Amino acid sequence: MTKIGFVGLGNMGGPMAQNLGGAGYEVKVFDLLPELVAGVGGTLGQTSASDTAREVDVFVSMLPAGKHVAGLYLGDEGVLQHLHPETLLIDCSTIDVVTAQRVAKAAQDAGLDMLDAPVSGGTAGAQKGTLTFIVGGAASAVERARPLFDVMGANVFHAGASGAGQIAKICNNMLLAIAMAGTAEALALGVDNGLEPGVLSEIMKQSSGGNWVLNVYNPYPGVMEGVPASRGYEGGFLVDLMTKDLSLAMDTAEQSKSSVPMGGLAKNLYRIHEQLHGAGRLDFSSIQQLYGSAVDSGSLGSE
Ligand code: NAD
Repeated sequence: MTKIGFVGLGNMGGPMAQNLGGAGYEVKVFDLLPELVAGVGGTLGQTSASDTAREVDVFVSMLPAGKHVAGLYLGDEGVLQHLHPETLLIDCSTIDVVTAQRVAKAAQDAGLDMLDAPVSGGTAGAQKGTLTFIVGGAASAVERARPLFDVMGANVFHAGASGAGQIAKICNNMLLAIAMAGTAEALALGVDNGLEPGVLSEIMKQSSGGNWVLNVYNPYPGVMEGVPASRGYEGGFLVDLMTKDLSLAMDTAEQSKSSVPMGGLAKNLYRIHEQLHGAGRLDFSSIQQLYGSAVDSGSLGSE
């Protein structure tokens, strides 16, 4: 039976590891927060990352940012030295391309295959096992990982060589931020001029302004059931994580000397929202609060 080590049991990693355990894999898990280790059913809790890395066939990480990933794998304390040479490494975190490629190169130098496999689909996708994996690395390694991706997700895209998964993910999230801010802006304009947000949403959904945000993630409170906007912007995809991803997009654009004016504007809007409303721990659709007086900013959870 395939043995798996899984490090990083937060909003995403916890349910992903639980799904692997539920599918019958032997899963060893670790997080810096002991309460998270205890909370993942059907898995074997460990007291260190190095214990989690020993004698496994696949090692998966789901951490916040590049510095955490570099810290986990590299250096004297890094897990690379504890993994046996056949282990396949899969980092599902959304991180900068440079770190993803640096860690993959170090793994390769140690004789190990590594994939960057950031995900789309949010916490609901992690819980339901319907994530989309956007993968960079060798095609043969993607095939080795496919049975695990199929347990944790519904779609797998091989974007290209090492780092390509991160690039594709960063492009997608920059577009998502722009679409969310633009949709919130249009809704506020309509409401300021006397329209019902639900009626306007339906009109735009069926018209040329239709987009994913209007279809499944409406940012205006009360328009759509089950989305963060209808529960005080709690849960979902945090503003902190969106600003992190937009910073990654800016860094990536700097490397390639690409112009990203819309992405830059979206990043600054999210930063203003963070500073003005202390909104870092709210869902990213709370950007609606930046637009006019139509939405009661008193409903912001962190104020
Ligand atoms: P999170 O903050 O909830 O979880 C990260 C976990 O990593 C924390 O529990 C933390 O204690 C742990 N951790 C950090 N360093 C560690 C280390 N050295 N060893 C062990 N554990 C360590 O974050 P999340 O929401 O699960 O997101 C994880 C990644 O997935 C991020 O890169 C994020 O951008 C990406 N992502 C998140 C979502 C989402 O909706 N939350 C969606 C898609 C992608």
